[in-house]
Amino acid sequence: MKILVLNCGSSSLKYQLVDMQTEQALAKGLVERIGIENSRIVHQKGEGEKVTIEQDIPNHQVAVQLAIDALLHTGHGVITDVKEISAAGHRVVHGGENFSQAAIVTDEVKKAIAECSSLAPLHNPANLVGIEACEKILDVKQVVVFDTAFHQTMPEKAFMYALPYGLYEKYKVRRYGFHGTSHKYVSVQAAALLGKPIADLKLISCHLGNGASVCAINAGKCIDTSMGLTPLEGLIMGTRTGDMDPAAVTFVMEKEKLSPAGMDDLMNKTSGVHGVSGVSSDFRDLEQAATDGNERAKLALDMYAYRVAKYIGAYTAAMNGVDAIIFTAGVGENGASTRKDICEYLGYLGVSINDERNGKRGIEIDISADNAKTRVVVIPTNEELTIARETLQLIK
Ligand code: AMP
Repeated sequence: MKILVLNCGSSSLKYQLVDMQTEQALAKGLVERIGIENSRIVHQKGEGEKVTIEQDIPNHQVAVQLAIDALLHTGHGVITDVKEISAAGHRVVHGGENFSQAAIVTDEVKKAIAECSSLAPLHNPANLVGIEACEKILDVKQVVVFDTAFHQTMPEKAFMYALPYGLYEKYKVRRYGFHGTSHKYVSVQAAALLGKPIADLKLISCHLGNGASVCAINAGKCIDTSMGLTPLEGLIMGTRTGDMDPAAVTFVMEKEKLSPAGMDDLMNKTSGVHGVSGVSSDFRDLEQAATDGNERAKLALDMYAYRVAKYIGAYTAAMNGVDAIIFTAGVGENGASTRKDICEYLGYLGVSINDERNGKRGIEIDISADNAKTRVVVIPTNEELTIARETLQLIK
């Protein structure tokens, strides 16, 4: 069975065709600049060469059709008939309080996704457009998998903000958390790598990519996570502030005469390690700059590791212990020195890493020293596979 996984942004579409027998991606691609000039599709069959086709792509329906045409192509395609696609699984960013798991697309489900748009105005409308484009082209069941769903097991004490309660009742202002698909996937893989049932494990998963979040997972369930109402709360990120005094927001707005939208932009796009260092949001550039003696790049890296370590301490307290810490996503999977910097704060938990194992890349690996009490593992994330697995489960 083959499942098409789709991730629609406002002007982009990522796709992957997953073979559920092998759980491998047969082909994947990215349609970029939908509705704007210079649009194109970049398609890759297996691990083969990338093929780029530049053409006018006025809307998401054309984008979905192009992706399917690429999958059917005699040269770089991987199927001969569109009927080989058994179902489509869509990533949806915000499911609000309505979805604690994936769902088959119905009119009610679409309405509920639309209702969450005010909480994710950049993402949910684009996700819906992708679903509707797909409905017009493919005659298969469609499933939606939410970034927020895994975090719906958080208890009230973890998800509420200490604002007047009426604001929660009126607007559902609360913490939701994101990257749920990734945290879920890596926690399942980590338990398998450690050879223990997930029900017996207290795990702290660190998804450190361009966006970054930490998640406390007790017996396979999320009990707390660092992102909140939006993906701005928590860790310092590439260009996002993460936690800070809320009063700093109004202070800076007044001083800099910024509108709410202007302040939102500043906190999301020009802050984080980029804002502090003035160098880059990319950790490879930051590490190089720090090695070359750039003090602000070093400061940004120090602040970053310190914040992650503080969250790990907090979540160890929340779970009354931790058995393993998981690193995943761009920085978590590749940034050996960032992992080391974080772990250096955690000796009190019985964390100790083996430098040689920490230097390995691209595999699932336990990087702890042999005698370490708390294990540290690196698990390459695979959100597309999780979406495909959940889609399969629902259509069965
Ligand atoms: P993601 O959002 O998961 O794709 O992560 C993207 C980020 O991963 C980039 O912005 C880089 O900061 C980081 N990254 C990628 N490769 C490396 C590397 N070799 N070392 C350190 N960081 C890396």
